[in-house]
Amino acid sequence: MDSTWINAPAKINIGLDVLRRREDGYHEVKMIMQSIRLFDRLTLTKSREPGIRLTTNLHFLPVNEDNLVYKSAKLLMEEFQIDGGLDIQLDKRIPVAAGMAGGSTDAASCMLALNHLYKLGLSKRQLMKRGLSLGADIPYCVMKGTALSEGIGEKLSTIPQMPDCYILIAKPGIHVSTRFVYTNLVLDDNTPHPDIESMITAMRNRDLHDLCAHLGNVLETVTIPAHPEIAEIKKCMIENGALGSLMSGSGPTVFGIFDDFDKAMAAKEKCRQLPYRCFAFVTDLYR
Ligand code: ATP
Repeated sequence: MDSTWINAPAKINIGLDVLRRREDGYHEVKMIMQSIRLFDRLTLTKSREPGIRLTTNLHFLPVNEDNLVYKSAKLLMEEFQIDGGLDIQLDKRIPVAAGMAGGSTDAASCMLALNHLYKLGLSKRQLMKRGLSLGADIPYCVMKGTALSEGIGEKLSTIPQMPDCYILIAKPGIHVSTRFVYTNLVLDDNTPHPDIESMITAMRNRDLHDLCAHLGNVLETVTIPAHPEIAEIKKCMIENGALGSLMSGSGPTVFGIFDDFDKAMAAKEKCRQLPYRCFAFVTDLYR
């Protein structure tokens, strides 16, 4: 086998809490992660010419060591002293810098595909350990599905699957700096922390309405005051039939949860009419 391809799914945060800022600057989090059926695609092809060559459909993305795909391929190729070279085509569909872990899922999928292509025999756990050295969200992106993520993202546990539903994604055409959001996050007695445990209980009971009643992301306390359009998009989704709506990650992507496909499609059109140049897309869960 000289070539293989893999779909790299985006994630949304059904719940996101930050428990504390550690002395080393990292944040201790408690997040419910959920993969959705919005994918980047990676195609890996062995080559006689040594080195890694990355190409992508997005001209503004780096294609050198600054790209997580390049980094993850290099990490495994060096460790296993793989002879010859590798051509990687990265077709991006997941919006960049959106809070949907686009780069992390690409890196995780690159490692999974390389493991398969070169028959390295690494287990998922072994890949997750290597992924963590490149980024806190990468171990989850190797695991995928519904998961609870704690620590700095490296402590992962399986939780009951999220009930079936439709997801409306809307990403306004604004830039949010993750660093800005975490730097300006205030953690004190007034901070509204989401109730992650109640969300897990709702998932166990397969109660979508109860789950939606508990959605929460502590990072909204920073991103929404800086970008009020995020609150407007949430409002638009709720007014158009979403059972719940939340910002994913540090933003600016907003998602809405629907129990009806037609309602989700109608809400998508409403979001597109907002003056925020929204990329809007209806999908469902990736198990
Ligand atoms: P997260 O949800 O983990 O915060 P994100 O969706 O906010 O991720 P990414 O799409 O991963 O952010 O991109 C963040 C930055 O990482 C971009 O500015 C981009 O230049 C860089 N980057 C490196 N590799 C990739 C990649 N494969 N895809 C997208 N961005 C990448």
